[in-house]
Amino acid sequence: MVSPSQVYRSTRSSTEESKSFEEVVIQGLAADGGLFIPPSIPAVSQETLFGKWASLSFQELAFEIMRLYIAKEEIPDSDLKSLIQRSYSTFRSSDVTPLAKNVTGNEDNLHILELFHGPTYAFKDVALQFVGNLFEYFLQRTNKDLPTEKRKKITVVGATSGDTGSAAIYGLRGKKDISVFILYPTGRISPIQEEQMTTVPDKNVQTLSVKGTFDNCQDIVKAIFGDKEFNSRHNVGAVNSINWARILAQMTYYFYSYFQATGGKTGKVKFVVPSGNFGDILAGYFAKKMGLPVEKLVIATNENDILDRFLKSGTYERSDKVAVTLSPAMDILISSNFERLLWYLAKDYEANGDSLKAGKICNSWFEQLKTQGKFTVDKAIIAGALNDFSSERVSNAQTSESIKKMYKVSVNPEKYILDPHTAVGVCASERLIATDNDKSLHYISLSTAHPAKFADAVNAALSTYAGYSFENDVLPAELKKLSTLKKKIKLVEKADKELVKSVIEEELAKMDL
Ligand SMILES: *Cc1c(COP(=O)(O)O)cnc(C)c1O
Repeated sequence: MVSPSQVYRSTRSSTEESKSFEEVVIQGLAADGGLFIPPSIPAVSQETLFGKWASLSFQELAFEIMRLYIAKEEIPDSDLKSLIQRSYSTFRSSDVTPLAKNVTGNEDNLHILELFHGPTYAFKDVALQFVGNLFEYFLQRTNKDLPTEKRKKITVVGATSGDTGSAAIYGLRGKKDISVFILYPTGRISPIQEEQMTTVPDKNVQTLSVKGTFDNCQDIVKAIFGDKEFNSRHNVGAVNSINWARILAQMTYYFYSYFQATGGKTGKVKFVVPSGNFGDILAGYFAKKMGLPVEKLVIATNENDILDRFLKSGTYERSDKVAVTLSPAMDILISSNFERLLWYLAKDYEANGDSLKAGKICNSWFEQLKTQGKFTVDKAIIAGALNDFSSERVSNAQTSESIKKMYKVSVNPEKYILDPHTAVGVCASERLIATDNDKSLHYISLSTAHPAKFADAVNAALSTYAGYSFENDVLPAELKKLSTLKKKIKLVEKADKELVKSVIEEELAKMDL
């Protein structure tokens, strides 16, 4: 029996049409421009949570959660377990996402959830290691009995400003019948980011260094997606942050860290999440709605604060210019996954639980966003959102200050070094600790990247401290070694769609997959 949380629909649809898990993973974005969601969120009893789930390993917990959203008919138990095992075997910590408890030691219950122990030292690995295996699993099942020339192949094309491309590459490297092309702007990403992406030896991976800006790269990728002829020939796919499977994979660490913080008991917990496209914190929303007794989900934004402004004003408005901050992975104009939350809010607070009506409301909001650059929701919607969320905006100066402060005051471990994204969250956490003034509250502040990935911001904050050394205190041996490895870069001399298309075709022929 397929349960209601195992079928999916688009956030913009007002018809009965539904999709299977496999369809939403492979398709990514709905044809009407909406995002896929399970219209009903499964409830987990407190007995199950604290009697059973609280003592499970990360992998066992991932299985229990994913099982609720994926029908057995689509992926049998043994296959799902094996996908999970393989996905998290690449992590350097046996906890997968360990919790640094009470880092400051002064009983303020500030815990840091380290999501950066995967192959590229950033939180996106938690989702993309799983998504890569999932793509391969579905593709191999389709191709099982087909002769070579009939096999379905996917060409994944993406653009990166530096920090997120490597997680996609490491998720898809070596996967059968999948090739990966990641575009990045020549000379505009850090040496470590370039090394991470270009030293992967697998023949199905090719980075394209494009003479131009990140926006040029992104425009080319969008144009390639819109190119029907190229698309039908090469089956162009994406692994961007709107894929449902990424949200699903991220739910595990909310449950797991909650149990670690409270010792497996019910407790008062706030999650503080450095947010950009809203994918990370949205997984926390699902955990809360499933029954995990979370006090609040705190959205921490940098100076690109569309989410903070929305919760304060009820108006969702695209800014005209992106602010360049110390936390570039959160430099966004629009938070794509926020649409998923808006759908549930529309359903609960405006549509009386009617999914079709919620789709209609959501669709009209996004039509307004397209035509007028903004939309405003009812007070009831904001009041509803504030039951689960609060938000904090953190400036560049405060981010830098937070890195310094943690370096000075931390005791478990000493001289703890935050990356600038994590620092945005920690700054927000410390504000809340001061204003809540409640010693029984736990603050789980999500750490989304290893500090070595953002050397400039970290060095700018810490270089004045005697004894501080990036090489010795921050840079892991594994990343240090990258500079000695052979790089595989294809230079594209002009930011031009036709040129990129022809380079991709040339390289595909050479890959001979
Ligand atoms: C992607 C990313 C974020 C933001 O996560 P969202 O899911 O987009 O909100 C924060 N920090 C780092 C390091 C990231 O790579």
